[in-house]
Amino acid sequence: MIGMELTDTQRMVQEYAHQLAVEEMRPISLECDRTEQIPETYFWRMKRRAPGGAEGLVSLAGRGTGGDKGREEIARDEAQGAFLSVLVNEEMAWGDAALSTAIPGPGLAYPPIRSFGSPEQQRRFLSIYQDEGLHWGALALSEPGVGSDVASIATTATLDGDEYVLNGTKHYITNGARADLVIVFATVDKRLGRAGIKPFVVPRGAPGFLVGRIEKKMGLRASQTAELIFDHCRIPKDNLLAGSDRDRAGGFKAAMGTLDATRPMVGALGTGIARAAYEMVSEWVRQELPRGYPFRRRHLLDDELATLGHEIDAARLLVWRAAWMADQRMPNSKEASMAKAYAGALVMRVTAAAVRIMAPAEPGPPKWFVEKWFRDAKVFDIFEGTAQIQRVVISRRLFGEMAAQE
Ligand SMILES: Cc1cc2nc3c(=O)[nH]c(=O)nc-3n(C[C@H](O)[C@H](O)[C@H](O)COP(=O)(O)OP(=O)(O)OC[C@H]3O[C@@H](n4cnc5c(N)ncnc54)[C@H](O)[C@@H]3O)c2cc1C
Repeated sequence: MIGMELTDTQRMVQEYAHQLAVEEMRPISLECDRTEQIPETYFWRMKRRAPGGAEGLVSLAGRGTGGDKGREEIARDEAQGAFLSVLVNEEMAWGDAALSTAIPGPGLAYPPIRSFGSPEQQRRFLSIYQDEGLHWGALALSEPGVGSDVASIATTATLDGDEYVLNGTKHYITNGARADLVIVFATVDKRLGRAGIKPFVVPRGAPGFLVGRIEKKMGLRASQTAELIFDHCRIPKDNLLAGSDRDRAGGFKAAMGTLDATRPMVGALGTGIARAAYEMVSEWVRQELPRGYPFRRRHLLDDELATLGHEIDAARLLVWRAAWMADQRMPNSKEASMAKAYAGALVMRVTAAAVRIMAPAEPGPPKWFVEKWFRDAKVFDIFEGTAQIQRVVISRRLFGEMAAQE
């Protein structure tokens, strides 16, 4: 059975996230983009209003109703964590995608710890996110020269007594310099290829863990993107996420499984920016377009906006499907890539159209917002796998499925 109507919990989480976007993000969005800085007050306010980040909003949904939910109901909410996350991410990106990446919480470190950490590791690594302080997490796959080709990871992890010793450099790591812990993918034996790649939890302050350059970027400027250096970095042996050792390709599977979980979220972020730009340009066309604008040209604009509008809906539906499959624990690599690829291309089309259509607008916030979103959009075509890589994933799965049917 399929139902397209959001449940009360889903609607409540979506509306709450939208409220945060309106009250906490939009008001500081342009200034944070200009300065590449986020005020400390934002972190504390979001810690209070969205503890644990997007993931935390799921449990907040329970408390939001006055804590009147039973265990069963809370468990049901948590079993739709991926779906709730995409609802939240679309709204947050509508507010400001860069600020949404900086909400205190485990962030991208959460999916691998949740999926591949033992119960003891989950407790050990995730409990800090429930205390009173500001804490972040990060995930480090990419290396100089190793972005798309995850199987070629060069960072090494060598067992030395009760410790692993990590050597290598990771770059472009979101929240890397402020993270309390980073999930670092490294190889225990290059000769094993994919089978040698494993996820390690590296806490901030581990000896030999250094922060390098912070990137200056064209878009998503307030989001922190850092280089991380591991120079004979020592971590306890049991910081290797245990579940990734279950089979030969376990660590590589953990990396790919993380991407299957996070690509729908990235698709949702792209959809959120596209929707923001679409709403802004539609409102401008409705209110500001000079009277007397030739009918035929106005007709072309309406036509373009109608097309972009239904494409935004299509992106959202692809995102929802991929997230729903993740919650049902169904393999969703192809669908996650479709959602991410479609939303990544769409957000560029919508923001480019918004900048072009609003070119005659007076300088000021509406125009500055669409210009910012245009710059922000490009990264959705790059991180969590470029558009080309999504097509590789989709075609491999598609042809695999076709061969299986023959
Ligand atoms: C703002 C930002 C934040 C990021 N955050 C993180 C993070 O938190 N953690 C993390 O690990 N990484 C992060 N990244 C890194 C990101 O995931 C990589 O940049 C991305 O995967 C591309 O890798 P690359 O830059 O090495 O490019 P390459 O892999 O070198 O690709 C360069 C070009 O070659 C193409 N290409 C490569 N292989 C193929 C192929 N087989 N077929 C067809 N075309 C191909 C690509 O599509 C691309 O056009 C972030 C990047 C940015 C910009």
